[in-house]
Amino acid sequence: MACYPDATHAVMLERHPEAIAAEPINQAAPEPARACATCTHVTPRGGCGEPVAAGLSDVVGVICYSPNGGADCPAWLATLSGDLEARILAMAERWNYSGDDLAAALSGARSDPDGWLRVVETDEQGGNHANH
Ligand code: SF4
Repeated sequence: MACYPDATHAVMLERHPEAIAAEPINQAAPEPARACATCTHVTPRGGCGEPVAAGLSDVVGVICYSPNGGADCPAWLATLSGDLEARILAMAERWNYSGDDLAAALSGARSDPDGWLRVVETDEQGGNHANH
């Protein structure tokens, strides 16, 4: 699939999940930033729906706001299943994702885990990778 201007594999997947044959790019992958904005526990108004796990409250069932937007939240990493995260990491390795691409993919998966599960399943079944 050709894109003008150039788009990364991860960006193309977000726009076109069927575009599994997108060309990969090649850079290092840093740890993605934690943020309530990319967390599946965030409420529609930006509060935290899991404040006990996040260390914001001792009371279950209340909604709290992270003072730093979830930047050091211990619960954020648990918002993506280990299986899906591992499969996204494997896909990122197959396609040689950049750090930004991987962060975008993991963030996207935290907000839309079902959609990204379909993406990795399609990619795993495709077997049409430029780096093989
Ligand atoms: S405080 Fe933590 S668990 Fe709660 S919404 Fe923010 S990142 Fe998610």
